[in-house]
Amino acid sequence: MKGTCNCGSINFKISGSITKLYQCHCKLCQKQSGSTSNTATIIHESSFKWLSGFDSITNWKKDSGFTSDFCKTCGSPVPNRLRDTHFIWIPMGLVENVDAKVVVHICCESKAKWDSIQGNVSILDGMPESVDDFIKSLQSSDM
Ligand SMILES: [Zn+2]
Ligand SMILES: [Zn+2]
Repeated sequence: MKGTCNCGSINFKISGSITKLYQCHCKLCQKQSGSTSNTATIIHESSFKWLSGFDSITNWKKDSGFTSDFCKTCGSPVPNRLRDTHFIWIPMGLVENVDAKVVVHICCESKAKWDSIQGNVSILDGMPESVDDFIKSLQSSDM
């Protein structure tokens, strides 16, 4: 699978399949996406490769550690590494030909009033208790 920002300067490739996505409804994700939430997944760095445009990435970092990486030219959010882990956050709107489902919504206590969550999904009020277990659950193939 390939992913690209709006202007096409930043390109990346994901190997293997992605089946599960999550939506984060925290205030930071609402502002970063300009919408209800970020729809994303988390993959191991061994499945991820930058193809071009790495030097077109700039970022904004909040004191809490939240980091938003985005394209200098078009402003699309782009993948970034989760703190000092081997995992990469992937904003799914950039990725082409994805056949995956949103399985969990997180930080729903700050969900926008004009958003509604539908379908057979897990709903968490806050962040997952264990980030490690959360990443594992996104990668497991059982639904
Ligand atoms: Zn761009
Ligand atoms: Zn969030």
